Amino acid sequence: MEKLAIDGGKPARSAPLPPNYPGAMMIGREEAEAAAAVIGARSPFRYYGPDLRYTVRQLEERICADFGVPYSLGVTSGTAALITALRAVGVGYGDKVIVPANTFIATPGSVVCCNAVPVFADIDDTMNIDPNDLERVADDEVKAIVAVPIIGTPCDMDPIMAFARKRGIAVVEDVAQSCGVKYKGKYQGTIGDAGAFSFQLNKILTAGDGGAVIAKERHIFERAVRFHDQGNIREKERYGIDSPDDAHAFVGQNYRMSEITGAMLLEQWKKLDDIVLRMKRCWLAVRDGLRAELPGIRFRGNPDEDGDIGSNLGIVLSSANEAKQFSAALEAENVSNYILYGGNPVYKFPQLYHQRGVDRDGFPFNYPFKRPVRYEAGMCPKAEALIPRVSFIPISPLLTDADAEQIVAGVVKVCKGLRIAFD
Ligand SMILES: *Cc1c(COP(=O)(O)O)cnc(C)c1O
Repeated sequence: MEKLAIDGGKPARSAPLPPNYPGAMMIGREEAEAAAAVIGARSPFRYYGPDLRYTVRQLEERICADFGVPYSLGVTSGTAALITALRAVGVGYGDKVIVPANTFIATPGSVVCCNAVPVFADIDDTMNIDPNDLERVADDEVKAIVAVPIIGTPCDMDPIMAFARKRGIAVVEDVAQSCGVKYKGKYQGTIGDAGAFSFQLNKILTAGDGGAVIAKERHIFERAVRFHDQGNIREKERYGIDSPDDAHAFVGQNYRMSEITGAMLLEQWKKLDDIVLRMKRCWLAVRDGLRAELPGIRFRGNPDEDGDIGSNLGIVLSSANEAKQFSAALEAENVSNYILYGGNPVYKFPQLYHQRGVDRDGFPFNYPFKRPVRYEAGMCPKAEALIPRVSFIPISPLLTDADAEQIVAGVVKVCKGLRIAFD
């Protein structure tokens, strides 16, 4: 048996994998020149300037064309996109919103920012929201569901949509981590009532920060535009809106995307198909290579493998302890990997668990709900058991066939060295 690198042996790879920033690692001269053109034109604001280039508008038009949706809006971040989407579908004070137990803090955080309260549905083998757990947490105070395709794998949208339609509640898709992911041939973000995207550095496409909201219905989109720009709709002719302002206006915020961000993101967006193609090719090679070498190996479940963007491959170990050992040993072989969110469901974040908002007196958690919301350990048992058992190998668009082979070799070596058996 080969000595593991963690015990002083020679690592399976001589160098670490490239950093896990798919879009950022593909930034080239195109992004630099596009951003420079906006600066050169002295017009970094999207709605007016001495020589406006309309980069944000072009990005929005490109998103609509590629995703087949009528409406898209650039905003400042994924969090801004989520807050805008939730506000647009009508979430506000006194509402509950169903959120999956496995997500980033920004998902429930956005709900709280809308003065609403998140309630948590458990996950299934896909590590995304379990459609069969919606009934348990739904009551007539629930106004919306946020579906989150976590790190590249689609959500099982059909039963989620069916549940929401039956109840007459909204669905927002938080596609922050998974731009380009599809379910049954449809891009996620286009299936629910609104979709939210992030272009922060960690995400599939990036401009450092940035986000987008997409919508299918004009009344929802109109609310999104107004909310993100102080209640205004400045491009009425573009959207075919001729209602006098004051009829539908409300007090909004400023979540407008800058033209510099728009310029970079338009170039990034053109690379989306190529990035997904590259990741997916390597993901399939690693997965199939591992299946051949380690029959019985278990991967994260998937409701639609064709729609997975291949940004991360999740290997399911038999216990949290085994996953920890596996992860450290694999890291030493120069195959970077991680256990999502420190192995915890999102409600274990202390600020959320203890229901601490920015306001005094426990607002908005202290709303006099008919059924008060409390968070406690054991609330979503599947998430608590599964998240710490899964090691994710990030798949960069830069990986080569040789990298894929070395990843397979590293995983096989670690499984043999640690006597991990899959059956
Ligand atoms: C990153 C992320 C967000 C927030 O995006 P930002 O652009 O960082 O505000 C929201 N939801 C999920 C699931 C994320 O991973």
